[in-house]
Amino acid sequence: MKRIAIDMDEVMADTFQYCLDLYNAEFNLSLTPDCFHGHPLFEIIEPAHRPHVRSYFDRHEFFAGIHVMEGALEVVRELHRHYELFVVSAAMEVPSSFVAKFDWLRQHFPFIPASNIVFCGTKGIVSADYLIDDNVRQLNAFAGEGILFTAPHNMNETRFRRVNNWMEVRALFLPEE
Ligand SMILES: [Mg+2]
Repeated sequence: MKRIAIDMDEVMADTFQYCLDLYNAEFNLSLTPDCFHGHPLFEIIEPAHRPHVRSYFDRHEFFAGIHVMEGALEVVRELHRHYELFVVSAAMEVPSSFVAKFDWLRQHFPFIPASNIVFCGTKGIVSADYLIDDNVRQLNAFAGEGILFTAPHNMNETRFRRVNNWMEVRALFLPEE
């Protein structure tokens, strides 16, 4: 059985949209994902607002409010029957998020056992056939085949096979269905 490692933020969890909704509401703005084409969130928002927005990620309730990415639940459930799945999150970037991320995964993807959840720094240490991730730095470090999941910040990337949504993940990994 082949093994697929799946990133959490911007792949399973719509973290970017939730962060943007919160930021727009707090600062009375109307930024859309198109405003971030090719750029990370923190490059585009006002420098004076950055520390405040970074503080979102220190709050358990922030993670608790993040929505599941459209189609992720259904397709991950299907993949689970045909592949060995691991959720692999570079959680070391925000160490205070460990419990909140774990709780989110247990709530929304209860069929993924805790033994298949990995919090790490670099994904270069991950042993899997595929990694589905929005982060090119992590895909570059990974030894297997990297699959780039589209997010506003990675729109200009051309080095990896790209999937734009979970329907395309299904088409790639479950072509017979
Ligand atoms: Mg990510």
